[in-house]
Amino acid sequence: MAKRKVNLASTVFFAVLLSAFLFIPAGPLPADAAVKTIRVGVAMDQTKGTLYSSGTMTLKDAKGKTLTRKGSLSISVDRSGNFITAGNVSLQLPVEITGKNLLQWGNHPYRGSLRLVPANKGFTVVNIVDTENYLRGVLKMEVNPSWGMEVLKAQAIVARTYALRNLGKHGKEGYDLCALQHCQVYRGVNAEDSRLTKAVEATRGIVVVTEKGDYAVTPYHADSGGHTANVADVWSGDIPYLRGRPEPFVYESPYSNWQVSLTLREIEEALKPRGLRVGNLTEVRVLETDPAGRAVYVGLVGDQGRMKMKASIFRLALGSSRIKSTLFTISQPTRPREQTSSFAPSKGAVRGNILSTHDERALISMIEGGAFTSEEMMDMLMHPEKRPEYLRLAFKRRSGVEK
Ligand SMILES: [Zn+2]
Repeated sequence: MAKRKVNLASTVFFAVLLSAFLFIPAGPLPADAAVKTIRVGVAMDQTKGTLYSSGTMTLKDAKGKTLTRKGSLSISVDRSGNFITAGNVSLQLPVEITGKNLLQWGNHPYRGSLRLVPANKGFTVVNIVDTENYLRGVLKMEVNPSWGMEVLKAQAIVARTYALRNLGKHGKEGYDLCALQHCQVYRGVNAEDSRLTKAVEATRGIVVVTEKGDYAVTPYHADSGGHTANVADVWSGDIPYLRGRPEPFVYESPYSNWQVSLTLREIEEALKPRGLRVGNLTEVRVLETDPAGRAVYVGLVGDQGRMKMKASIFRLALGSSRIKSTLFTISQPTRPREQTSSFAPSKGAVRGNILSTHDERALISMIEGGAFTSEEMMDMLMHPEKRPEYLRLAFKRRSGVEK
């Protein structure tokens, strides 16, 4: 199971296979109960930039001083960090910006209004927008608009629930959510798509709630490896509706199979800050797995002792983009400390494969090296049969034949 909060996945923008819990009937929320205003930090620590609107925009500062402009307006922060210069007018932060037409910061147009709030360095541009319009600028980062409408709708519900559950997460900084992976990637109007807007509208106000009426925790993943994990095995705490379940259907994504080789020394270095005290590390193995075969505990043996560590902690320490999940086996060919331990998906995760293991590895390394655009990766996810074709394309690109 992956969730962007914990940096569990660089892969997160792929998304969503629904867990069964999503179909728990939502509590008796009136329609539109979940439509709220949200403050999104879209550009942090800015010292200067350009505001633009094709219509009239009005800037109102902390003291009520206003400035009205149309077109472009350059903004820069003054040395004290409390005032900005807009055109040639000095305004005190925070500054509210409203307009009839879309407001743009740099090349990014936004619905709703903007607010400039003081930041550690300069100011932060905050987009004040209702949740439905916010979602229009979010979904494309997680799903491919060409996917089935039901998937898109499900993602809209999950993203809406996440946003509402996390309102105020950046309260101290003057906004609710940031527009980065830390919260939920949001790109405003530039990320909108008509099918995604349709999915947002079709699910307007719908959220997932618990029996108690709280917003549910709704993590999602690019690839579960065939079975999701119990939340308690991944993060702390136990959430009764986040239990491991088998996937209801078979699929294959670029993340279904992976392999990584690490030296014992590398593992040792990564785990020291996590409390590894076994002397020189000599062996790593999976101690305990859950019913789906996912590693729950990893045993670490050294020349001065041994210890066990939660596999999820082990994974995060080594890097979630390297150890892509806790569904792995470890093979340790030889003794010397510079030798590598290989991590491969455990049997449960290995599915019918179109590529040979060698090509599979090559493709994964191309993916990790950024050889593909997110659209291409989504296409690969949707059409696994195209992977050999993409692999050829990546080789061509690398050799400079094709850009
Ligand atoms: Zn954030």
